[in-house]
Amino acid sequence: MELIKEGDYILIRFKEKRYLKKVESDKNFSYKGGILHYKELIGKPFGITIGDLQIFKPTLEEIILYGIKRETQIIYPKDTFYIAKKLNLSEGKVILEFGTGSGAATMVFSSCVGSSGKVYTFEREERIFKVAKRNLTKFGFTSNVEMFNEPFNPEKVKGIKFDAAFVDVREPYPYVEDVWKVLKPSAPVGFLLPTANQVQELLKVLRPLFGDIEIMEILTRYYKANPERFRPEDTMIGHTAYLLFAKKLSK
Ligand code: SAM
Repeated sequence: MELIKEGDYILIRFKEKRYLKKVESDKNFSYKGGILHYKELIGKPFGITIGDLQIFKPTLEEIILYGIKRETQIIYPKDTFYIAKKLNLSEGKVILEFGTGSGAATMVFSSCVGSSGKVYTFEREERIFKVAKRNLTKFGFTSNVEMFNEPFNPEKVKGIKFDAAFVDVREPYPYVEDVWKVLKPSAPVGFLLPTANQVQELLKVLRPLFGDIEIMEILTRYYKANPERFRPEDTMIGHTAYLLFAKKLSK
């Protein structure tokens, strides 16, 4: 059984709230119900209840939602988890991504392609690049990720034929042909676009390089986990982004 040790990250659940914290024996977690001394947790199993707190091992979703520093808008797991499988990612695949942003999507791609795969990711802003690097290092997502602090530049990945590509930048249009060139035949590409006019612009330049185009958005409705009052939560996140997927056509 895996026991909690110094330096581990934990997910603390208190009532409806979740907190992602690091176990440091000389530090405490203060909350409305009292104080948890992290040293009390060392040697205990994940999943224990201490008073009105539940202590879990954080999942990838929780690391992204509660653990990383957000220097940019991030892509939420409800979207990235879907994107990763839509791009057919699995152990050993090689994916191109730009822009890295805070690294939230990079983490999901890295976890999908595993130790025999690779994520090549470009971020043009130095300040954002540094935050992404810190986020990825903090949670152990560096061994299969190669980061570039510059706008996407196909010269930097010359000779690599990618299994998939994912683009999350405001102006993707000038890069469509370069993305097409670096992909394997029939390989999938995904774009994330916050507004409808960006989707329209992109559609104009995608053909005749990409086919099988699909556009969607993902809505997630949560429910109250109360057997006596089982019903949807009162609020839900409406629009996050449009997702556009396509596949490389051969010429
Ligand atoms: N997908 C990221 C995440 O989940 O954390 C968020 C990406 S953020 C919305 C968009 C990023 O693209 C910004 O950090 C921006 O600096 C970067 N960017 C814009 N144009 C770029 C380009 N041509 N090449 C590389 N990065 C670019």
